[in-house]
Amino acid sequence: MDSLPLPNRKKIQLQNYFNAWKERHGASAISVSTMRGCPYTCKWCSRAVYGQSYRRRSPAKVVAEMKELQLQYTFDTIWFVDDVFSISHKWLEEFRNEIVKQGVQVLYECITRADRLNEEVIGLLKESGCFRVWIGAESGSQKIIDAMDRRVTVEQVRGMIQMAKSKGLQTGTFIMVGYPGETEADIEETIKHLKLSDPDLYTITVAYPIKGTPLYEETESSFLHALPWESSTDRQIDFQRTYSRRYYDYAIRRVYNEVAYFKERKSSKSAILSLTKFKLKSFLAKGGMLWERSFH
Ligand code: SF4
Repeated sequence: MDSLPLPNRKKIQLQNYFNAWKERHGASAISVSTMRGCPYTCKWCSRAVYGQSYRRRSPAKVVAEMKELQLQYTFDTIWFVDDVFSISHKWLEEFRNEIVKQGVQVLYECITRADRLNEEVIGLLKESGCFRVWIGAESGSQKIIDAMDRRVTVEQVRGMIQMAKSKGLQTGTFIMVGYPGETEADIEETIKHLKLSDPDLYTITVAYPIKGTPLYEETESSFLHALPWESSTDRQIDFQRTYSRRYYDYAIRRVYNEVAYFKERKSSKSAILSLTKFKLKSFLAKGGMLWERSFH
C-alpha cells in the first residue's frame, strides 16, 4: 500500500467539508485511511470493496501524510476511516513511536473493536493523539451479537468503553435495532448496555441488508418490496422482521429518551422539566411499541 499515491485532495473543495463538520460537531475533521480490508465476519457488514483481509501502510508514511496535511490545510482533527484502527498492536506501537519521532501533534478519532483493545493499547492511542475512540457493539444482547457473528462479548465492549473513559478518552458506539431474531427483551438489553457502558456518543439505526453480505442472503427471501435498483439504496430494503417497521421507529425513540433520561439524571445540572420530558417521551414510545407489537 505504500506504493500507492496519496489521495488527490486538491480535486475537491475540502473547506466545504471542514465547514460542515465545524457547524455540526464544533470541530473540523479531515479523513485519512491507513488500512484496507477487515478479516472479521460481522454478517451485516460489507467487505465488497476491500475484501476480507488486512493490509496497511507503514506508520512512517501515515505520519508523514499527517504532517503534510497540517502544512496544507487548517483543520481541528483527523478522522481515521479505518475499520479496526487498533487491529495490530505492533503497528500501533510503531505509529505512536513515529508520532513522537516526527513531532506531530494532531488530535484524531478512530473506530475499533473491544477485543483489539486493552489498557496498554488505550495508552498507545492516547499517546499518539487519539481523543475519541468508537467501539462497535451494535447490540446489548449477546444473543444478537452472536447472531451477527460479531465475535465479541457484551462485557468486553462494556469494559473497554469504561476503561477508555477512565483513561481520559471520549467514547462512542454504534447500535442497530431490528436485526433478524431480535425481540423487545433484546432491545431492553441494549438500553441497559448503553446505561452501564455510558459512552459519550452513540449512533442508532434500523438494520438493513447490504448486497453481498450474509445478512442480505439470509433475508432476501423475506424482502417486503421490490425496489427499482436504479433509484433505490440498500437502506430502503425492508424484510420480514420480528415486528412492524414502525415498531422500530418507536424503539429508537425509546432508546434515545431512556438513555437521555439516564444521562440527564446523572448530570448535576439536570432540570426536573427535561427529566420529565425524556421520561414521558420514553413512556409514549414504549406505548407505540406495544401498539405495533399487538396490532400490526
Ligand atoms: S463491522 Fe467492523 S469488525 Fe466487523 S467485519 Fe465490519 S469492519 Fe470488520
